[in-house]
Amino acid sequence: MKFETQALHAGHTIDQQTLSRAIPIHRTSSYVFRDTEHAANLFALKELGNIYTRIGNPTQDILEQRVAAIEGGAAALALSSGTSAIFYTIINICRQGDEVVAANNLYGGTFSQFDSILPQLGITVRLVDSTDPANFEAAVNEKTRVIYCETLGNPALNMIDMEGLAEVAQKHHLPLVVDSTFTPPCLFRPIDYGADVVIHSLTKWMGGHGTGLGGIVVDAGKFDWTDSKFALYNQPDNSYHGLRYAHDLGDLNPVAFALRMRLVPLRNLGACISPDNSWLFLQGIETLSLRMERHSENGYLVADHLQGHPQVEWVHYPGLTGSPGYENALRYLKNGFGGMIAFGIRGGLEAGRAFIESLKLISHLANVGDAKSLAIHPASTTHSQLSGEQLQSAGISASLIRLSIGIEHIDDIREDIDQALVQAAQNA
Ligand SMILES: *Cc1c(COP(=O)(O)O)cnc(C)c1O
Repeated sequence: MKFETQALHAGHTIDQQTLSRAIPIHRTSSYVFRDTEHAANLFALKELGNIYTRIGNPTQDILEQRVAAIEGGAAALALSSGTSAIFYTIINICRQGDEVVAANNLYGGTFSQFDSILPQLGITVRLVDSTDPANFEAAVNEKTRVIYCETLGNPALNMIDMEGLAEVAQKHHLPLVVDSTFTPPCLFRPIDYGADVVIHSLTKWMGGHGTGLGGIVVDAGKFDWTDSKFALYNQPDNSYHGLRYAHDLGDLNPVAFALRMRLVPLRNLGACISPDNSWLFLQGIETLSLRMERHSENGYLVADHLQGHPQVEWVHYPGLTGSPGYENALRYLKNGFGGMIAFGIRGGLEAGRAFIESLKLISHLANVGDAKSLAIHPASTTHSQLSGEQLQSAGISASLIRLSIGIEHIDDIREDIDQALVQAAQNA
């Protein structure tokens, strides 16, 4: 079935007792065992089934199957946030002494996790300029276990050379992990171009209404974990009677990565998604393709409008000629470029502040991917603690404004931006 159909139907069969058309929310912490043998089989993985909602829940299961289907993956695991999805992915591959090679233009929270939490565990992250796959290859050594990037970089919104990067990953037999939050699967499917693991913050466009936190990890089901350098997959796990995930899962071996993430990091660290939030994300995904059409249409129109505005110094939008990574965006984003825009306002910090404070329709907040238009001025908010030098190396100038364009009528969005630009000019 096609994307739009899968987004409404994949993973759900009508419950024959209730005949409920909509997906039920299973608000339960636990599940009754049929008998002691059933219980023993579940705990020994001889049979897969529900035990306790920290490890899995029927509403969550439908969400996981649906996202795996629309991403072209083999299995998925939903978690309490995008942040925990990223952390569990790394610790489901790396252990002390291992290394990650990652793009240097990451989401701020991911950067902090890589910069301060992973080193606590003895995992080293090497950050490289993501505009050329050769930079990733140059940082690979015998300790490298993962290559990590985002589809659209932060804050330049430059599209990555996905096939070039996949080639590097394959050559060195490393899993390619891609945070595709900014490019939901109706815009781009990293697995089609060689990614092994795809991560989303469901909080953003997948949910689409700014109503809940969640994350998901999709396993393409193609990576061969039998290489002994992946110790977590080749050494026996004593908590499952000496199971070796790369060898002993039978029919489930292709999805060893997703299954291990459920059985080890999720089970023992516990960042589970709630049944209610699973349901919210399923609801959001039903209209994802429609919303992304409007996000992309409005995003393009606003970017184009800003580009010609005398108060604007520069505009980054993946679909704008001359924007960073424009060639890659044209190659990969065939169904639209999304709703994210970064632009430089004339007049620096003061103009940026005045612009943000003058917005009436567009909300000033720290989120993206809501149906409602959002704006933030990183230099005076999310990145205000950084020094001038740090701001510069992160590519965040005092004049940078980030917009997440929503699905309102384009005339109303443009009118709000125009009046705020007038205020900014007066205050600059
Ligand atoms: C928001 C976001 C995250 C973190 O997700 P949470 O759901 O907020 O934990 C990770 N990566 C990207 C690209 C994001 O936009």
